[in-house]
Order: sequence, then C-alpha cells, then structure tokens
Amino acid sequence: MRVKPVPHAKNAAKFLEDDAHRLFHDERLWDMRQKRDQQMHELPEWEELRTEASRIKEHTLANLPDYLEQFERNALKNGIHVHWARDGAEHNRIVAEIMKKHDAHSIIKSKSMITDECEMREHLEPQGITVTETDLGERIQQLDQQLPSHVVVPAVQKLTSDVAKIFAKNYGTDPDVNDPHVLAEAQREAARPVLLSGEVGMTGGNFIVAETGSFVVCTNEGNADLSANLPNVHIATLGIERLVPRMADLGVFIRLLSRSALGSPITQYTTHFRGPKKGGEMHVILVDNGRSERVALPDFWSSLKCIRCGACMNTCPVYRRSGGQSYGSVYSGPIGAIIDPTFNERKFSTLPFASTMNGSCTNVCPVKIDIHEQLYKWRRILAERHEIPFVKREIMKMAGRLLAQPKLYRLSIEGTEVALKTMPRFVLYNYLNPWGKHRELPHPVKETFNSWYRKNRLKNETNKQKTDA
Ligand code: SF4
Repeated sequence: MRVKPVPHAKNAAKFLEDDAHRLFHDERLWDMRQKRDQQMHELPEWEELRTEASRIKEHTLANLPDYLEQFERNALKNGIHVHWARDGAEHNRIVAEIMKKHDAHSIIKSKSMITDECEMREHLEPQGITVTETDLGERIQQLDQQLPSHVVVPAVQKLTSDVAKIFAKNYGTDPDVNDPHVLAEAQREAARPVLLSGEVGMTGGNFIVAETGSFVVCTNEGNADLSANLPNVHIATLGIERLVPRMADLGVFIRLLSRSALGSPITQYTTHFRGPKKGGEMHVILVDNGRSERVALPDFWSSLKCIRCGACMNTCPVYRRSGGQSYGSVYSGPIGAIIDPTFNERKFSTLPFASTMNGSCTNVCPVKIDIHEQLYKWRRILAERHEIPFVKREIMKMAGRLLAQPKLYRLSIEGTEVALKTMPRFVLYNYLNPWGKHRELPHPVKETFNSWYRKNRLKNETNKQKTDA
C-alpha cells in the first residue's frame, strides 16, 4: 500500500482552531527569535563566525570518511567502544545487544533526536526495556505519546495547563495546579528514583571531535550529565554529520549554538565526554541512516551542516502558526521540510510547500544552509515526480499558463478587480477557499502598477524620444 502524505495543512488548521495555544506558540518562539537577534548584535564578528562554521562543516563533510576513521582511532585509544550503524534498525539492535550483555532492562536517556529518528523506544519497549526521558520537555512529550515538537524545546506547543493534566494522569498530581515551579518539582520527584536506579545511561551528542576521539553534549537542565554518569554504562548515539575536525573548531560552534537557539550566550552545561568513568563502560554508536546518501545529493547535501539550533523554526511564520506536530515527523519546521523528504519522499511531500519562501530561515541559520532554496528545489522535484495533489498540480499548471501570457494575465487582473468589488461575499469566502478562513483578501487597488506605468513612464519616454528626435 502506498504511504499517504502527511496532511500538514489539515493538521495546522486543527492547531489554529485553539487561540490560546496558537498565540502562546507564536509569541514564545518569536521571543526566542528576538533574543537571538539581541545576542547576534552583541557580537560584531557574528557573520564571520557563521562563515567559519559553514566552512568547517563543508570541509568536514567533504572529508567525512577520513575524519570518521580518525575519530574511531582516537576514541578506541580513549577506551570507548565504537559501533557503526547503517540504519535505525541496526542502531536499535546494537543498543539491545549492549543491554543484554549487561542484563539491563532500564535506560535513562537525555534528549537525542536521532534515537527518535531510529524509533528506538518503539523497538526496545516490546523487549521489556524501559526508556525514560530525563529532559523535562522530552519527558512531557513521552508521557503524552507525542514526537518532539521542536528540536530544542520539545514541548513548546504545550501550555502549563496541558502539562498539569499530563502529570496528573501519570504522577497523580493536582490537574488544576498550573504553577511551573510546582510542575517542575513534581517532575524532579518522579525522575529522581528513575535516575538513581537506571541501569544504562544514554545521551546524544552535539559535536564529535575527530582529533581527540571525544564528543560534546550541550544541555540546560544537566540531565545528560546525570544520565551519563549515574549508571556504569553510557551509550551515546551520534549522527555521523556531527563531526568537527579539531577541538579548536568547537569555539566557533559553541558560540553560535545557544545564541541561535535560545538567545543565551551559552548553554548551562557543555560537557566533554572523552572516555568511560572508572570501572564503567562507554559505547558510541555512529549512525548513518541515510546520511551518506544525502551527502551525495548535489542539491541537498548541505542540510547535513545543521547543528539543530532550531533558529529556522523560531523565525518561520508557518512553523510558528502551525506547530511542530503538524509536520508528522521527528524533524519539523524548515529544516525538517528539507531533510524529511530524504527519508520518505512521498510521506513528506507536503512539507516543502509549508513555507512562504521569505528566506528568513536562511538568514538566521548559523551554518548558512540555503534552506529556502532547497525548499524550492524540493518543490520542483516533487512536482516532476507527481508527488503533489492533483488539484494543486492542475491549479499550478493553469497559473503557469496565465503567467506566461502577459496580455491574458493583465486582463484577468483587471477582471479580478471588478469581481472583487462587485461579487457577494459568500462567493469568495466559502469552504472552497481555505485561504480565506482566517484572512481577508486585500482591497483591490484603484490602479495597477502596469496601468500607472503605461500612463506615466511610457508616455514620458515617448515624449522624450520625440524631443530628442
Ligand atoms: S537548519 Fe540552520 S537554523 Fe535550522 S536548526 Fe539547523 S542549524 Fe539551526
């Protein structure tokens, strides 16, 4: 059976129905975007940092096999067990084997998008292995059985009243108490025993350093440090694109990451993991899962430069108003819309169209990924491969024919103006016009630019030519 495309527009319409969530989501993310701008203005070398970050990532991706092998050699010297996973299934199998070797049945895990990408929890839980998220936002999403909504703030679409209800259901707290301090304390109380009894700790990793065989995890809650250090076994799942060649390169990325993500100069915790703790074991799983194929795509390879800061999501007017859940994927927003189709072209064929193409995502991206241009390239590919709905395709064809004939186009514009002025409202605002549900069509202009130009400029130019002659 052919997989169905994610109904992004329908999901977004549902999200928009609720004013409280819609307004909160929009304001919260815009606030993060503004804080990012303030931080950016405080660093005169901001653009140089972006250029340098982009250069380092491009160089690394161009030499990925060499740097990966260098990392492996150095990590082995540090006493780390290094595993290679071709895809999600292989990754999950490796984790299950490590668990079996230690006769362990519980994992305490800090935020890591890649384990969600590998669908690790779904794979391990039927085998009797519990996976408990220790990041507050991820835990809320786990308890609510939802994917993360944002790469940095996974439960950003939820109000405190939603969290109170989820905690009441799972922790037996009062559903009417919305105070964030009380909720945070409830989570702390619930998480503490799980953290202390967890048999294996799991983290992701923001950066992998080839030269030292180490990796870096940036968090604000400190939960990654607890997850990694309390149990004797630490498993880190790392996407192969997270590499940087040298320790010195980290300075560039650490300065950009938190400023771009949350508008703060640095994350609360920036932890370097270089080997197992005394008497412990450390495993690193380097996951490909389509990345080496993506690096060979001429139009889309640079999406691998992403450092998952979420700035493109915070600035995107479509993401801010539609919410991360509407994308139906682990990765949402503009970055999701360009990497998701590489996982499944048909399933995520609607996502590159969820954009106004204003280019703001490209402007804020700390590693200079040309996001909006890749969105446009995806649209072309999906249209050529007939992966867009029939009605949309036919409308686009008609629009293409119209725009290719200037006279016909002008005539239709004039006709539209007359129609807009005279037509009864219900003809324009009905169920066939979803665009008009939340918006009003602009008032038709008294005179189009074209007719003004003909009257003024062309006339002047003709007069000038006559005078010159
Ligand atoms: S694409 Fe750029 S802005 Fe978006 S999450 Fe990745 S690094 Fe951040």
